[in-house]
Amino acid sequence: MFINTITDFLEVVNLRILHVTDLHFNKQQCSWVLNESEKADVVCLTGDFLDTHFNQAYSITAQIEWLQSWLKAFKVPIFVCTGNHDEMESSENMHWLSNISGVRSDGCIEVIEQIRFGCIPYEFEAFEHFRSCDVLLHHEPPSSLKVSKQSGQDFGSDSLRTALKNDTLKPKWILCGHVHKPIKNVSKFKGVIISNPGANQNCSIPNHHWITLNKPSV
Ligand SMILES: [Zn+2]
Repeated sequence: MFINTITDFLEVVNLRILHVTDLHFNKQQCSWVLNESEKADVVCLTGDFLDTHFNQAYSITAQIEWLQSWLKAFKVPIFVCTGNHDEMESSENMHWLSNISGVRSDGCIEVIEQIRFGCIPYEFEAFEHFRSCDVLLHHEPPSSLKVSKQSGQDFGSDSLRTALKNDTLKPKWILCGHVHKPIKNVSKFKGVIISNPGANQNCSIPNHHWITLNKPSV
C-alpha cells in the first residue's frame, strides 16, 4: 500500500485534497474514501469507478446505482472524471457520472478557495477549455513519465503531454490514474506536479495521496 503526503508551498495550509483513483467498484475502498473525506476539504477521484474486468456479482447497472448513491453521500466538494472503464454505450447509462447532485464531473470548472479545478473528460482533446485551471483531473497521465509507465510499457496520453509541452495547459497539478502500478507515484513535467497514486485491489485502504495547497498569493 502506498500512502504519501505532498505539500505544495511551505506556508499556511489552506486546502487539503484527498486524491484516489481506479477504485473499480471496490466497495470497501469506496467506504474508506467516504469516511476519510471528513478530513479533506476537497475529494478528487480520477476515473475507473466501475469493475468491468472481473467476475463481479453486481451488474453494471447495479454498480452504477450503488456508485451514484455513494457519490451523493459526500459532504465535501467532490470532483470526478471518467476513465476508460466508465464509458457506457447504452443511452440510459451513457452519462451516469454526470448530473449527480453535489458531484463536479466531466467538463466542470470550479473555483474552491481561489484554486481553480477542472475535470477533463476521457479522450477529450480541446484542452484550451481548461487553460485557466490550477488543478486538473484527467484519467490518463501525460506520456513518457514514470507515472505513466508500468512493466516497460507506456500507458500515458501523448496529447496531454503535448498540451503541457506547448503551454496549452499550465496547471500546477495534474491528478490522474489509469496506470495501477506505475514506476513512481509522482512526477514533474514542465513544472507541473503529476499525481498518480495507482491502485491495489487487494487492500482495504486504497492507494491515495493527500495534497495540501496554499491559496495562491495574488
Ligand atoms: Zn483502472
